[in-house]
Amino acid sequence: MNGSRVLVLNSGSSSVKYQLLDMTDRTRLASGIVERIGEGPVADHAAALKQVADELARQNLGLDSPELAAVGHRVVHGGTRFTTPALITDEVVEEIEKLIPLAPLHNPANVTGIKVARELRPDLPQVAVFDTAFHSTMPEAAARYAIDVDTADRFGVRRYGFHGTSHAYVSRATAALLDRPVSELNTIVLHLGNGASASAVRGGECVDTSMGLTPLEGLVMGTRSGDLDAAAIFHLSRVGEMSIDEIDTLLNKRSGLLGLCGDNDMREIGRRMGEGDSEAQLAFDIYIHRLRKYVGAYTAVLGRVDAIAFTAGVGENSAAVREAAMGGLTAFGVEVDTVRNALRGSGARLISAESSRVAVAVVPTDEELEIASQTFDLVSD
Ligand code: ADP
Repeated sequence: MNGSRVLVLNSGSSSVKYQLLDMTDRTRLASGIVERIGEGPVADHAAALKQVADELARQNLGLDSPELAAVGHRVVHGGTRFTTPALITDEVVEEIEKLIPLAPLHNPANVTGIKVARELRPDLPQVAVFDTAFHSTMPEAAARYAIDVDTADRFGVRRYGFHGTSHAYVSRATAALLDRPVSELNTIVLHLGNGASASAVRGGECVDTSMGLTPLEGLVMGTRSGDLDAAAIFHLSRVGEMSIDEIDTLLNKRSGLLGLCGDNDMREIGRRMGEGDSEAQLAFDIYIHRLRKYVGAYTAVLGRVDAIAFTAGVGENSAAVREAAMGGLTAFGVEVDTVRNALRGSGARLISAESSRVAVAVVPTDEELEIASQTFDLVSD
């Protein structure tokens, strides 16, 4: 293989995000986003990727460059089929297509991105990196729902988990920050963005995570409810006479912080709380309550916790969320230093007190770098 550059593509339903990285020094050479696919000038994913290719060519970083070693694609759902990154072949594309029923909103766009990129550079190795893969090490006790086994297996109803690329990256970056081998470290990773998930990582392997069959389960998110009694759906259907699609939209798009207080941006919620807004305060309290429940649960799952890492938009930026989530946990060996927590910074940093047995850290995630690393490792073998 020649070349040391990897193009990372994240093809969503209405946007394509891209980054070009040089893996010799892990630097970012270019990045951007093409939005509003399907509206106006960007008719479809093919047009969007063409725009990405043109933009890179303008910067003399074109797809035809011999420096380009591979393309890494983010793929949301790998089911039980993909537990590691996969070199893309026709068979792999077919397998990803078969998983569309499990991720109807995400996998189709991911597949389209892969197909178009393969047409643009058929000779170039392309790799699929799955959001679910890091969680495939979860034991059956954590991965199975307690429902009829035959039905569950027939329809693939089990807990897959998402944000895996981020949980993988952050758990390793936390070990690096603490200067300890990841194999010795038990870590709770709290990925708090618009979507949010927690994971329990033992010695670098995921043993539990809060998202399940879909990204709906678990924590309170920007617009998703997280955990809910499944019977609420029967109730809304029977008594509320809502259709399945309406309930789907309710729980995925009109719930969470947005449903609770009308805002899904933690900055705005913080501002409103400062003005004494009780609706925003209650939304925040529910968000924190759920988060603390997962920290407690994963402490029990792991038995011994060495580190708790906060990441993604809220985790990296909201000192208020971190303080509220970690408050009153001295019995768990968790003590946050208020001054350290309030300091703003861009890199990975400790926010726990010297006396804290558990290291608490802010560890910025970098999913693109992780996808590029996994892609480069695979094609360099
Ligand atoms: P996504 O899941 O879309 O990748 P991000 O990880 O970028 O999301 O997180 C986006 C969220 O981060 C925003 O909706 C907002 O709630 C939160 N956020 C970003 N900056 C701040 C900040 N300075 N303070 C508090 N919350 C923030």
